[in-house]
This record gives sequence, structure tokens and C-alpha cells, in this order.
Amino acid sequence: MDTNAMKNWDDRGTTAEAIRAGMIDKLVYSVGKDPEHATLQDWSTALGLVVRDHVVDHWFRASHRSHEEKKKRVYYLSMEFLIGRLFNDAIANLQIEPAVQEALSTYGLELRDLLDQESDAALGNGGLGRLAACFLDSMSRLEIPAFGYGIRYEHGLFRQRFHDGWQIEEAEDWLVSGHVWEFERLEARYTIKFGGHISFDGQGNTKWHAEETVFAMAYDTPITGWQGKHVNTLRLWSSRPTEILDLRRFNSGDYLNAAEKMIRAETISRVLYPDDTTPEGKELRLKQEYFFTSASLQDLIRRYLTEHDDIRHLPDFVSIQMNDTHPAIAVAELMRLLTDEHRLSFVDAFDIVQKTLSYTNHTLLPEALERWHVGLFRKVLPRHMQIIEWIDFHHLAEVQSRNLAVSLEDVRIIGHGSEVRMGNLAFIGSKKVNGVSALHTELMKQTVFAEFHRLYPDRIVNETNGITPRRWLYECNPPLRKLLMETIGTDWIANLEKIDAAAAFATDASFKEKFAAAKHANKIRLAGVIEKKLGLRVDPTALFDVQIKRIHEYKRQFLNILETIALYQAIRRSPANDWTPRVKIFGGKAAPGYHVAKQIIKLANDVAKIVNSDPVVGDRLKVAFLPNYNVSLAEVIIPAADLSEQISTAGMEASGTGNMKLALNGALTIGTLDGANVEIGERVGPENIYIFGLTSEDVAEIRVKGYDSRATIEGDPVLSDVLRAIAEGDFSPDDPSRYHDLTDILYNSDYFLVTADFQSYFQRQRDVDHGFRDTSRWTERAILNTANVGWFSSDRTIRGYAADIWNVPSV
Ligand SMILES: *Cc1c(COP(=O)(O)O)cnc(C)c1O
Repeated sequence: MDTNAMKNWDDRGTTAEAIRAGMIDKLVYSVGKDPEHATLQDWSTALGLVVRDHVVDHWFRASHRSHEEKKKRVYYLSMEFLIGRLFNDAIANLQIEPAVQEALSTYGLELRDLLDQESDAALGNGGLGRLAACFLDSMSRLEIPAFGYGIRYEHGLFRQRFHDGWQIEEAEDWLVSGHVWEFERLEARYTIKFGGHISFDGQGNTKWHAEETVFAMAYDTPITGWQGKHVNTLRLWSSRPTEILDLRRFNSGDYLNAAEKMIRAETISRVLYPDDTTPEGKELRLKQEYFFTSASLQDLIRRYLTEHDDIRHLPDFVSIQMNDTHPAIAVAELMRLLTDEHRLSFVDAFDIVQKTLSYTNHTLLPEALERWHVGLFRKVLPRHMQIIEWIDFHHLAEVQSRNLAVSLEDVRIIGHGSEVRMGNLAFIGSKKVNGVSALHTELMKQTVFAEFHRLYPDRIVNETNGITPRRWLYECNPPLRKLLMETIGTDWIANLEKIDAAAAFATDASFKEKFAAAKHANKIRLAGVIEKKLGLRVDPTALFDVQIKRIHEYKRQFLNILETIALYQAIRRSPANDWTPRVKIFGGKAAPGYHVAKQIIKLANDVAKIVNSDPVVGDRLKVAFLPNYNVSLAEVIIPAADLSEQISTAGMEASGTGNMKLALNGALTIGTLDGANVEIGERVGPENIYIFGLTSEDVAEIRVKGYDSRATIEGDPVLSDVLRAIAEGDFSPDDPSRYHDLTDILYNSDYFLVTADFQSYFQRQRDVDHGFRDTSRWTERAILNTANVGWFSSDRTIRGYAADIWNVPSV
């Protein structure tokens, strides 16, 4: 291939004139519209194609460089990538916004309007998927040759709507209006097998006679790094039938059944399971996991063999990261490929596996670590079951030979003879196992993987999560970006720790004024969104108190709602007091089958209805639950937040990343000592964060000793009043008993210790009221949050993975 010829590809230029000409060209010849009849969507597609061309130039150069230099590559396997919109991200990374703006102005178009045409690729549930997306950005920024591998779900996470305050789920359709960012790769197609039986021929040949086969087809999306210096690939797999149509059935008039196999095959990449903790639709979910893992491993081995000829050196050129246990079947699949296809011995193959794979743990809840019934597993993946039995047997023998006082049952992959434990499989098959915050890693060593930690004391490492500063400050917060660039320059964009230079301006009157003005502008923008979506007017000078994340009992939106009601009651009792006006802003989806979470959403909306229409309360308190929380909505809410709610039951949130995004954008945190809140507190200092509640040690002790929530409630008149109001139907006059299930949970079990933390949370919120009234001081503290959380860049996290786990260089 003549790579010199490529040097001239990028001659289209990024001037306004070139972009203007390119847009007309794309509009007419690619979209097929003339300018007079073009819709906003058409213009958006045209601009998208122009920007994409520039990305592609950088992308090809990067791929050729990696290929020619035979660099070690990182493969990030994740069931979820919550990438959001890519258009603005590419424009920002290539730094062509001014030219684009100028080009659009000649057509009377606003960039904002075009950007809003792009659908939000929601191929994930929450933090785990968003982490994968931030990591892709950082790997490009650090010029680490990498691929993200996942599933091209036809329907991503459902769209959330409220009907009478209840969550309604609608199918999401991100591909419907055309997705300009992906390239279909017809040549990258692999066969994936399921079911059937295994035969051995006595000559060492093993054959898998599958019952069902599908094709995995690749779709590539370029991920642009800062200034386009490097571009990596997100490769998503789509399932396709190996047989198109049963013609015999079709010709006999049986049209529906003729297409049956086709439909069955395509089901595998049809939908994202809207729950990242409990496996639903078990068999299909297992098939999804195997489908994308197998396709990814086959693909990376094929790529490896185009550059190297000895499969034994795989670990020198390939690192594979498993994001949670969803791709943990990679341990057995890589074994299968190395032994059955590449003819290595089991022992040699396992040595390669353990040097190539690593595993990131995201949860401590034992019930949330994936397990499969042996029966189901053997039915879907018969060869893998044999391989796992081999690994389990040999691992057990090794452990026994070491004569350590270790519980053998705890370190087995096949538990109680009846379940395959994917966490244990991932641990045993990995070079390194990492937690995602200092506290979480520590608890991992003490709880879920305690026995493994005794066996392999060097295997567990910590890599505290991070967020990309490009999307989560530079792109989403133009007013603050501008102020920072004027004041401390641009170093922080690619090196976020440099943002600490802003700390010197925390008491500078002029900087403070501009910082507050930036926040105010963002709050006005959010107030506009709230009015448009909810018909609710809010005062942009009020405290914007934000809790945005999946709705889950452990994240304790319920606690926030109880405090809202307590505040409401207090305001009604003494409206003449000098209240600090507050807007409570919620966003988040509940898994469709999670009844309690859906009730919590309904309660928040019911409370909103009563509070917002109460003339006694007026602007002192408003409640806004914005529907369909996703990356794009987060990008509008986060820059406008004054207060960040991070109030999970201590020990249950592995890290959190919403906490980092909000602090970086100048929100103060009210939170428990959980996940990365602990490390945020260490960096911003105790006077710039509001910590409350039980610690993880307290919680662990309560779990042993037991807890009497009823006594707590009865001893707290504020809380009693709140629960009485809910139970008597003050917020659900149409159905007074609607929330009896919810209140009963608090009285009878309260596993998440909402009642235990209520009082200290309520008190801390009054400290917040007080703190916010000192506007000048609050701004200083907000500045110190922005200035002191530079460490939480995902660039820093990825540097950690590169050095501690992958052994690859980063710039
Ligand atoms: C960052 C992010 C999350 C994770 O939020 P947490 O508060 O850490 O749970 C979830 N969803 C979206 C859309 C995000 O951007």
C-alpha cells in the first residue's frame, strides 16, 4: 500500500470556505437534497459528513501508524458504551468550531440547531457504559492504539416518558434517522456458534457441532482524540443470520416461518438489557455476552496474525480489558481459540490467557456478580463448559497444593456443582483485577475477593475512575471553558491537573464575578429546558440542587425526596422565615421491572405537583424531575448545578462518576463517604464538601448487629411527620394508599438505611442553605471544587491502566 499518497488526503482544509463548499457538496450529492428544500436534519447530516471526512483522515493515518509500527494494542470489551452524541465532540476535538460557525452563518443556520438533530447513542445503562466511553476518548488522547468492542444494539436504552407521573418506557430508535458516524465493514464478519455437541477424534482434534450459528458483522465508529492527533475505533457487532430465507417454506406460502431463523439471529443484537445488575431473559443475555466476546477475540487474533506469526507472543502485543463480568466468557473463549483452533496445549494456552486478560470489578454485591446455571451454560456453550471444568479442576489442585487456609468453595468457578460464577472465572483468568475507587478496592479485598486476595496478593489493584475533560467541561460548559482559557490558558484541556492554576483566582474579585456569571448563564439555559419540558418556571438565582443517576434504592433518591418533603413542611409552618430558595432537580431511569424504583419516580412527581402549585411556598422550593436522563441531558444539567447529590448507602457505590462531572463544573457535593466521594473530599478539602451519614464501617457493623428503623423513625419527629404525610396520602389524594409499600419498607426493613441517615442529611442540607446565602464565599468554594478535581480526569485513570495493567506506553 502506498501510504505516501495518504499524506495529501487531508487537503480539503478546515477553513470556513472549505467547510461551506463541502456542505453543499454533501447536501446535494450524498443527502440528495437541494438547499432550498433541505430540512434541518438534512443540513445536519451534510455537516456531519464534512466533519466526518476530517476525522477519517486522522483515523486512517493513526491505523496505518499502529499497523506499521506493530504497536501493542489495547482491546476494551464492554457490553455497554454510553457514547452520547459525537458531532460536537468531533468538532471540539478537531478545534474547528469557529470555522463551522462561520460557514453555517452564510446559510442562516445555527450550529446548536444542527447538533440537536443528532440522536443520542444510548448503548448503555449508566456509569459503567459512560466510563467505557470516557476511556475511549482518553485512549485516543494518550495515543494508545485501542479498540472498543461491544454490541450494536438496534434499540439502546429505552426512552423515558412520564404519564401522570409514572415512568413509561418507549423503544429507542437511534438508527432511524441515519447515523453518520458508523461504517459498515462487510469484510469483518465472523461465525458465532451456539449449542450442539462436541466430538473428539482421538488425534487431539476437537470439533464443535453447533446447533445454531449466526454471523457477527462489524460497524466501526472513529473516536477522535484531542486535536485529532490519534483516532481509535469503536467496533460494534451486529448479529446476522447465516441463512437468509427458507425458500422451501416461502414458496409453500409459509412466509412468517420462512423468516424465522433470520429473526432469531437478529434478536441477539436487538436490544440492550435495561438492567446492568441482574441478568434477565437469561439465555438471550448469555448469548449476547458470548456473541460479542467471541467476535472480538476472533477479530483481534486475526489482526494479530497479520502482523506477527507466533500466537505465543500474543501477550506482548495484546491487552484485553473486561469491563465487569459481562465479557468474562473471554477467559474460556480465548482458551478455546488457542487450543481447538491454534493447537496449543491447555497449559500453554492458559498461561497466555492469564497474561493477556484483565478484569475490572464494578460491584461488591455478591448477588450482582453474574452466575449461570450449569445446565443453561452447557446447553448454550458446551465446549466452554468443558474448558471451565478443566480450569476449575487445575486451579483447585494448585490451591490445594499451596496448603493455605483458604475456603476452597469460595475460590471455585463452579459453585455448589450447579452454577458458573463469572466473577471467579474472570479473577482466575486475569493478570490484574481492579477496583474503581480506593474505598471500593479496599472493600473488594476484604469481601467478595477476600480469599482470592490471600491467594494472589499482587493481583488486585486500584484505578480510580475518571471522566474526560473534553466532553465534561470543554464541550458542555462553554461559558466556563471561555473564562478558564482567558485566565489560565488551555493546558487543562489535555492535562486536567493543570486546572489547579484556577485556585489562585478563588479570591480574585473579578474572576469570582465572571465564574458566578458563567454559572448563572448555565442556570438560565437549564431553566429554559425545565420550562420547555415541564411547563415549570424556576428562579435561576435559587440553589440548583441536582440528583441525576439511575434510580436505585442504594442511590437513595428516596432520601432526597423525604428531605424535600421535610423542607416543604417546614416552609409551610413558617413561610415568613428567611428561606434559601431551592430547586430540586432530578433525572434518571428505573429498570422496567424494578417496581420500587418506579414508585420512587412517581412519588417524586407527586411531590413536585403538590409543592410546585402551593402558593404558600412559591419560589422558596420547586421540584423538577426531567424525563429521559441521558448523556445529552446531563450535558445541560451538570454545568448549571450548585449542589451535587451523592448520597448512596456507604459501601454500595463503587465509585460514581457523576460526582466528578458535577464537582468539575463547580458544584459542591453533599454526600456520604462512599466510592470516589472519599477521594473528592480529600482533594477539595472538608470546608468545600458536605459529608454526612454512616460510614462503610458503620454500615458493615449494622449489617452484623441489626438495625431498628422503627425506633429511629419514632425518635425523630421530623421524619415521622414526613412519613405520616406520605402514608396518609397528602401527595396522592387520588390514591391515599399508593405509597404504603414504600413506607412499609422504611418501617420494616430499610436495608439501605434511609432512616438511619435522614437526620444527619437533613442537618447538612440546612448547612448548605446557610452556606449558599454567603454568595461570595460559595463562589470561592465552587471555584476550589473546579480547581481541585483535575486528578479525576480519565486521562489519569488510563495512564494508570497503561502502566499498572496493560504495560503500554502513553504520551
Ligand atoms: C455520568 C453518567 C452516569 C453515572 O452517574 P453516577 O452518578 O455516577 O451514577 C449515568 N448516566 C449518564 C448519562 C452519565 O452521563
